[in-house]
Amino acid sequence: MSCPPVQVSKGNILIVDDTPANLELLNTILTRAGYEVCVAVDGQTGLEGARYGQPDLILLDIMMPGINGYDVCRQLKQDETTSEIPVIFISALDEALDKVKAFTVGGIDYIAKPFQFKEVLARVQNQLTIRELQQQLRAKNARLQREIHDRIVAEAEVRQLNEQLEQRVRQRTAELESANRKLEREILERRRAQEQLMYMALHDSLTGLPNRVLLMEQLEKALKWSKNNSDYHFAVLFIDCDRFKVVNDSLGHLAGDRLLTFISHRLDLCLRSVDTLFRLGGDEFTILLEHIDGIEDAIQTAERIQHQLIAPFHVDGHEVFIGASIGIVFGTSEYDQSEHLLRDADAAMYCAKDLGKGRYRVFDAGMHVRAVNFLQLETDLRRALDRSEFRVYYQPIIDLQRNSIAGFEALLRWHHPERGIVPPAEFIPAAEETGLIVPIGAWVLREACMQLRQWHQEFPQHSALTIAVNISVRQFSQANLLEQIDSILRDTQLDSRFLKLEITESTIVENYQAAKAILEAFKSRQIQLSIDDFGTGYSSLSHLHQLPVDLLKIDRAFVDPIDENSSEREIVRAIVTLAHSLNMSVIAEGVETAVHVEQLKKLDCEFGQGYYFSKPLDLDRATELIAVDRSWA
Ligand code: C2E
Ligand code: MG
Ligand code: MG
Repeated sequence: MSCPPVQVSKGNILIVDDTPANLELLNTILTRAGYEVCVAVDGQTGLEGARYGQPDLILLDIMMPGINGYDVCRQLKQDETTSEIPVIFISALDEALDKVKAFTVGGIDYIAKPFQFKEVLARVQNQLTIRELQQQLRAKNARLQREIHDRIVAEAEVRQLNEQLEQRVRQRTAELESANRKLEREILERRRAQEQLMYMALHDSLTGLPNRVLLMEQLEKALKWSKNNSDYHFAVLFIDCDRFKVVNDSLGHLAGDRLLTFISHRLDLCLRSVDTLFRLGGDEFTILLEHIDGIEDAIQTAERIQHQLIAPFHVDGHEVFIGASIGIVFGTSEYDQSEHLLRDADAAMYCAKDLGKGRYRVFDAGMHVRAVNFLQLETDLRRALDRSEFRVYYQPIIDLQRNSIAGFEALLRWHHPERGIVPPAEFIPAAEETGLIVPIGAWVLREACMQLRQWHQEFPQHSALTIAVNISVRQFSQANLLEQIDSILRDTQLDSRFLKLEITESTIVENYQAAKAILEAFKSRQIQLSIDDFGTGYSSLSHLHQLPVDLLKIDRAFVDPIDENSSEREIVRAIVTLAHSLNMSVIAEGVETAVHVEQLKKLDCEFGQGYYFSKPLDLDRATELIAVDRSWA
């Protein structure tokens, strides 16, 4: 095979023919026409030339020695490096051209010999154009295929991205939903906590009842409503439990709490659906009665409450009786402030309490005056100690067998700058309530001990005189009472055997265990102990023998009516017998007549105290009394 030098050509053509003349001729025609021509003289060379030369077209002779044109063409078509090269068969007219076979083996055209130049060039050019177009088509096709492929790949990527996106959206949505749910839960919890706080701020934790804050709100509303509606009437009941402290102190706070819950249930039974029960704190409750016809409705409710409280409560296996003092105030439109309603209901409750427990009182203007006076009293009392307005008076206690003075009871008097001498009954309760009794009581004790010590020194023949000093509940429950007494005895240098402390029964009952310990501590100091006003308090007879008590002071109420046949005489006799059996002595209070003295002597009562012998005396007159050494025989 030979090829001409490389020049710009219209195409590259391989001619395979065993006839040199044909080769020559075709080569010339085509070269002149601008094609680049290679030639091969047999089939085998043609096959190799096609493989290595990769011509654009092959002109292939059919009849050749060795491999004939059909076989060359078949092989060319079977080899993928050459299968696309168009093959035009060349055949002489005398040769039998099997056209069918030529097309079957892959030929695309044929040229008959002798060659017509123009035909050769036209057929070659056609095939080359077709090939060119085919190649362009194939290239386009390939591009398209690539594009399609790229698009498929891109679509797949988009789909995948989409899926990923959807997945992320789903995941994010789930996260958001979960965060949302969490947030909703938190909001709900927070709202619940807030409601709980709100509830706690407005309700009493023990009974669950609405508290003072809610009461004031409701009162405010009721007051407004009553100002705008003349038909609307309401009332406030202020309830304070009597003797609750006794239960609390003796059975413990838990039992006290349970009792308060039971009480609130009972109170609830007395209400109509429009009424509201509040707990103010401690043992204080309030009821707001709405839409009532008049004060009678409120009174009826108070009576219902007192009736409800008659039956005992059962607390921790104990039967407990609890009464209530009730103050009632009618909500008239004259009130401007709800606090005043509550203040007046409270004042009415105090009046009810003063009357003796288990009562109710309807508020009237006088009570307000009393409350204001009380406030004034408190202010005055606070100043009284500093201004030295207190005096100790001394009432002699007479030994009924010897008819002589055995000692004195120290009794407090208040020399009020405007009111003159104020008796203790008028200020001791206020001093108790405000706690002022503690410093006042300490002052009395010091004063009385100092005075007795002085008398002992001044009147040696009376060196056995005793002094009795009253100790109030509040003083008694004071933590440093013993230290205080010790320091007073030390400072005044009074022998403790001559000091008698008077305590009422109720002081002991209110705090039995602590009282017992304190009384024992007194005893160990050889201080004598009297139970004052004996017979009027709650019966502590069952405990009496366990207490280190030296004296019982029979209350005036039993002494006053004693004559030969009175039942009180029997009570006094019983008390004397009881006291003696427990190694105690007896003092009768309120001895006013010679008959009293005679009867008491008959009953073996050791001591007497009362106006018959002497009223409480100021210091000078008491000193005089000792000096004259008077006998009451
Ligand atoms: P008390 O301890 O039972 O004192 C006896 C009260 O009876 C005294 O009243 C006395 O003046 C009065 N009294 C004495 N003999 C007779 C009599 O024959 N007839 C009548 N009708 N009364 C008589 P006072 O001094 O008014 O004291 C009343 C209460 O005040 C005392 O009762 C006592 O509980 C309390 N008290 C007095 N001084 C003090 C004190 O310094 N501290 C404390 N905590 N309480 C005191
Ligand atoms: Mg007394
Ligand atoms: Mg008394």
